[in-house]
Amino acid sequence: MPAVATAILGVLSFDFFLVPPYLAFRVEDVQYVFTLFGLLAAGLVVGTLASRMREQAIQARKGEAQTAALYRLAADLADSAGFEEVLQAIRKNVKQIVNCGVAIYLPVGGVLELATGDPGFPANEPEKGIASWAYENGSMAGGGPDEATRRKTRYLPFKTPQGVIGVLGLHLRKGAEGLSQDEEGLLNALVSQGAIAIQRANLAEQSRRMELMQQTEKLQSALLSSISHDLRTPLVSITGTLTTLQENDPGLDDATRKELIENASEEADRLNRIVGNLLDLTKMEAGTLRISKRPCDLRDVLGASLEQLRERIGDRAIRMAIPRDFPEVPMDFSFMMKVFFNLLDNAIKYSPEDSPIDVGARVHRTAAEIEVGDRGTGIAEGDLTRIFERFYRAEKAQPVAGTGLGLSICKGIIEAHGGRIVARNNADSGATFIVTLPLEEKQEPS
Ligand code: ADP
Repeated sequence: MPAVATAILGVLSFDFFLVPPYLAFRVEDVQYVFTLFGLLAAGLVVGTLASRMREQAIQARKGEAQTAALYRLAADLADSAGFEEVLQAIRKNVKQIVNCGVAIYLPVGGVLELATGDPGFPANEPEKGIASWAYENGSMAGGGPDEATRRKTRYLPFKTPQGVIGVLGLHLRKGAEGLSQDEEGLLNALVSQGAIAIQRANLAEQSRRMELMQQTEKLQSALLSSISHDLRTPLVSITGTLTTLQENDPGLDDATRKELIENASEEADRLNRIVGNLLDLTKMEAGTLRISKRPCDLRDVLGASLEQLRERIGDRAIRMAIPRDFPEVPMDFSFMMKVFFNLLDNAIKYSPEDSPIDVGARVHRTAAEIEVGDRGTGIAEGDLTRIFERFYRAEKAQPVAGTGLGLSICKGIIEAHGGRIVARNNADSGATFIVTLPLEEKQEPS
């Protein structure tokens, strides 16, 4: 319109000021009529072209802004590592386009729930109802057709080829006149991009869970086979011995018979220990392990554990370094006996037959520190804490029979005493386990 008006005005001014008769809208010379029409036509064409170019420039600028907004979102989404970050990236980018409160609703067990939302967002039941409608129908909800019914909230569904996977909620500021067409267009593009990102994050989360489940299943079956193997080995040996003895072979002399029985008895003990460990573990898991502490002489507890291991120790040197005046330590005698049994048993298992085992104790502040050390293979640095995990066995330990339960049970028992256990490697060779038990414990009522 301005271009047409300018063209007409220009022709009229030309006629008025420059064409005789001057200062009048008349033309004496017919030649000027053609000139005036020519000028008008040129003005109209140029004006129309100029306005069209201007419109194109405005559109291009809008397009550029949209592309920049979508690019920003794409960059933010690419940087998002987890599900929560994806939601925050969508929230932030939507806020940058439309200055409004933003919320994201996602289905939980088929029902739409608020996943994230700005503090002032009206996430009440009626609003949730509108969001659910948008979710179920897959179309925008909230904006009424006229001023009276127009609401301040809008809900846009996150659509994917597989269906709607959530809803984006907008809470427009007071007095905001709905959304402009451009804003709506850009929001739709943003919501489509967001939908894909949410779906991708969902899938990644699902596959992570599946992987975890598979790993757990693998671990469980590995444990089951390892335990059944550990239970079977002594059983096979006992059954074999019993069969040999039953056959009453006259070729068997008394010494061989005795040796067979001793072997079977050792295997039965081993079986008993494994089953005992499994029972303790079950109790720990169920939280039914009851510790009853009373002051005990450390030498008595260690002596009882060593007694149980007498045959396994054989000629080995057990070097005890416990001060004569060592105070009594509050503990549950039978459970701590199991702890030292396991530690000494490990020291025997994981060190050469002729190497000594060191047992020491000292008082450190208000705690008793008891050490069991050997001159064996030692423990890889990365395994020093992992060996206390249930069923964990270090690579180096594989040739030696075991279940990976002993140390986790020791840890459980010691922690139930309010103490702790750590492992470290000796400077020269072997490993030392240090048990710390509090000395200042109130005696529990018996
Ligand atoms: P198990 O001995 O039945 O495998 P444990 O829970 O007692 O189970 O020990 C867990 C792991 O800790 C062992 O498999 C072994 O790798 C390591 N370990 C325990 N004690 C020692 C030790 N004294 N020296 C070297 N490694 C040890």
